[in-house]
Amino acid sequence: MKNKVIPSFLFSLLTLLFLVSVNAFAQKKTVLVTNLEEYNQTLKSLQPGDTLMLANGTWKDAEMVFKGKGTAQAPIVLIAETPGKVFLEGKSNLRIGGEYLVVKGLVFRNGWTPSSEVISFSIDSKNLAYHSRVTECVIDNFNNPDRNAQDSWVMMFGKNNRFDHNHIEGKRNVGVTMAVRLNSEESQDNRHQIDHNYFGPRPVLGSNGGETLRVGTSPYSLTNSNTLIENNFFDKCNGETEIISIKSGGNIIRGNVFFESKGSLTLRHGNGNVVERNVFLGNGKSETGGVRVINADQRIVNNYFQDLRGEEFRAGIAIMNGVPNSSINRYHQVKNAQISNNSLVNVAKIELAVGSDAERTAVPVESSFTNNLIYSNEGSEIFKVYDKIDGISFKGNFANFKPSAGGAGISIQKIKLEKGENGLLYPVDPSIQAGAPRDLKVLKISETGPSWYPKATKEIVFGTGKSIPVDPGLNTISDAMKLAQTGDVLELKEGNFEQTKVLDITFPLSIRSGKQASISFVGTHLFEIYDGGSLSLEGIQVTGEKSADAAGNAVIKINRAGTLYNYKLKVANSRFSDMNVNHSFNFLEVSPGSFADTIQILNSEFKKFTGSILSLRKEIDDLGKYNAEYVILTGNQFEEVGGMVADVYRGGTDESTFGPYFIAESNTVKNSGKNSRNKESASFSLIGVQWLVFSKNTLIASAPVKVTELVGKPYTCFAQNKLQDTPAIIHSKNQNQK
Ligand code: CA
Repeated sequence: MKNKVIPSFLFSLLTLLFLVSVNAFAQKKTVLVTNLEEYNQTLKSLQPGDTLMLANGTWKDAEMVFKGKGTAQAPIVLIAETPGKVFLEGKSNLRIGGEYLVVKGLVFRNGWTPSSEVISFSIDSKNLAYHSRVTECVIDNFNNPDRNAQDSWVMMFGKNNRFDHNHIEGKRNVGVTMAVRLNSEESQDNRHQIDHNYFGPRPVLGSNGGETLRVGTSPYSLTNSNTLIENNFFDKCNGETEIISIKSGGNIIRGNVFFESKGSLTLRHGNGNVVERNVFLGNGKSETGGVRVINADQRIVNNYFQDLRGEEFRAGIAIMNGVPNSSINRYHQVKNAQISNNSLVNVAKIELAVGSDAERTAVPVESSFTNNLIYSNEGSEIFKVYDKIDGISFKGNFANFKPSAGGAGISIQKIKLEKGENGLLYPVDPSIQAGAPRDLKVLKISETGPSWYPKATKEIVFGTGKSIPVDPGLNTISDAMKLAQTGDVLELKEGNFEQTKVLDITFPLSIRSGKQASISFVGTHLFEIYDGGSLSLEGIQVTGEKSADAAGNAVIKINRAGTLYNYKLKVANSRFSDMNVNHSFNFLEVSPGSFADTIQILNSEFKKFTGSILSLRKEIDDLGKYNAEYVILTGNQFEEVGGMVADVYRGGTDESTFGPYFIAESNTVKNSGKNSRNKESASFSLIGVQWLVFSKNTLIASAPVKVTELVGKPYTCFAQNKLQDTPAIIHSKNQNQK
């Protein structure tokens, strides 16, 4: 009898185990799919706990919808077969809608989104995502080739979603990189979490719409978002003046690092936001900023700021004036702001009541500035005060210089700093109880993004490649260019070079000569810079004598498709002459939608041009766009230039950009700006330039220099110029300042 009981007991146990394992198996089905049809078929059958796996390889033109309803214990997962080995390319995007969904390990590259987002936490306005997560995904240079075509890479809708450990790098067209939307009740008070992401370099856009992260929009800005932005690394996020633009209430921005990022964390609209335990490291890079404060009940506490060079809106701390009874999209008064226990070490400025003008007259009220440590390397004043600041109470602060604000609320002392365990600077003297806390954790770059994706930056560097000797003759330069790669240098020998072919520049290339190398060309232009190209010319001579008898020739043209990659043009010790075969012969002719990072011309000679040397007036829709960030002319000779030496235009009232910067020093300009086609009747026309230095130049028998300031508080400096037989500089200030 006993030997019958035992098997029956065992049988029951085995049956039970079998049923449990079937159930477990049913809850964890993993399906590998290799194309979109299989994907869409499988999607319909997914149950909570199931995993949909995309096969390794390239998925081209994949517009994916990920819809489902998982549970907290058993989410539905969309995952790469191997994280980092599934590439979404061409016209691809992903829309997510439902509950408890997880997306992991996808890489978007080599293409752009055919819609307005790459990853959207919504399928449409009715189907949003809730309790869903996108993690360890990459969006790398996934740009629409038209820099003026607007899109965004990540849009968060719905509630309780998480975006973490992603790598976002290289957005170059207009449009915020990532945004949290509050445009319906389903997306408000959303409690999203954005954490441990690597926000990699975003180059200067040259217009509004270059923010890296925005939370809300002005129409919903009095609504709480309650989004947590924590432990993210912002690396050279230089798109525009707002790195983060907060346009809603109740958000917490905590533990992030802002590294060499131009612009600032801007509390643009919305109340009751907390900015705490963030680290801002500018490394002395221009325009690097801290926090800009607008609206009510903002707390900026326990942060660390070092070596920031930004001023005004991009000061270490900028507390703005508001507009009385402001409309929702202007500037609400600062009220009950708490700025305490922050360290400001060698920041260029702290600006109070900044933005004060005829419209922005509401000064900060009921606010406090307490227990902050302010250290200037030179021991010089860094406060700048634009209006009454008796609405800010100062208490318990320390500074090593005599500040113009704060009165007895700032103790002036000699302060010696030493490195703390976290690598940040703290006062040696323990009696100085002010500044950021000792236990402030500095987020490491390696703690952000997926570990399997490299965080390498690609910068334009001339002269890093090999040297290629070029003999004189017919089309020898274009022949040599076939052997050249990024960073290479073509070394021209002595003699005459003739080009019947246009030299197409598609990567950073240098052409130089230490000898007498003279280039002539027979077409309408010698060089054409394409997207991705940059050009350095040194020690060469170019003549336009043999060029086509056509109007509108140029030595260098920018391809009419524009440039997504900001280009550099460097010219040194070179000579350009006889560009007068027909009218309007320019040195540089840019195209709409093109943008130069830097145009630098040194110790060069330009003689007999019927057009302009730098024609930078192609963004004319007055939206604050322009064609070059830095224009630097030093020690050059310009003679008989019929058009303008420089024609720089940035129209409109927008205040979002850093540039254009224009610097002209120690140049000589003779008999220039007098052509009848020169519409400005000027030798230089500089409109809307934000930072201008014009010094030690000599103008002889030339048309006047015309400077028109349009917006903000541009910096303009004229010094030690000599004008002989040339009208005085015409300087019109703040033509349409709001
Ligand atoms: Ca903006």
